Amino acid sequence: MTSFHTHRARVHDASLPPYRRHSALRTCLTRFAPYGLRATYHHLTVSARIPRFLEADPDALVRAVDELHEARELWRARAEEYAERRRAQKRAGRRLPPETAWWHVRWWGSPNAAWEHDPFLHPPLRLSDYVRRQNALLDGAVLPGCPACGEQGPPVPLPTGPGDDRGDGHGHGRAELCRCCARVLTPCGCGRWHSFEPALRTGWSRIWGREHMTGGGEPSPYWPGVRGEARVERLESYTIHWGSGVVYGDRDQ
Ligand SMILES: [Zn+2]
Ligand SMILES: [Zn+2]
Repeated sequence: MTSFHTHRARVHDASLPPYRRHSALRTCLTRFAPYGLRATYHHLTVSARIPRFLEADPDALVRAVDELHEARELWRARAEEYAERRRAQKRAGRRLPPETAWWHVRWWGSPNAAWEHDPFLHPPLRLSDYVRRQNALLDGAVLPGCPACGEQGPPVPLPTGPGDDRGDGHGHGRAELCRCCARVLTPCGCGRWHSFEPALRTGWSRIWGREHMTGGGEPSPYWPGVRGEARVERLESYTIHWGSGVVYGDRDQ
């Protein structure tokens, strides 16, 4: 398996055609993508100003992979420390980690899962700032606002289904999501996992083809139409059932 660094070098290689450098960036994203592959790609298109047509500014790919690399170095240093500490804890007879490292949290069931369903939703932070923030939280820092992005505005309440279906005061009702990045801040009281997804899917192939960017590397004002807080308000809740190895979702309401 070729490494992140090999593919990063390909992104930097100006003798390669832009589409090859772009595909090397994708390989780097399969190795490290703190917002998930699709949302991290979306973030980088905007932060590095990758234009709709790569030929207009192939160096945008270098800015993108270098932002990713900077964040990956911060993560790697912290992950090595964490692994070292875990080895010491195991030697002391502590088999289970006292805290789950943020990079070990699976997307499925995570409070950040909306980023997978809608790549336009993710924190607005530079990737290195996001990694610093997650590392600080892992170290026990108390930071105000949304754990993912730091937003301190009131959360967006979203309905999670009709009323208290268990009769014990812990039924469905609503969950509260960060108005900026759609992280679930207060889960539904029923204890099951609700997945929050856009009713209208934003096609990944269109994002991959940067239809959301202009020829000059700015976000297109025309596509997609819904932005900001309204995008979070329009997410729909699905209740996830776990049973007999099959996971399926029911649209709530
Ligand atoms: Zn519920
Ligand atoms: Zn947030």
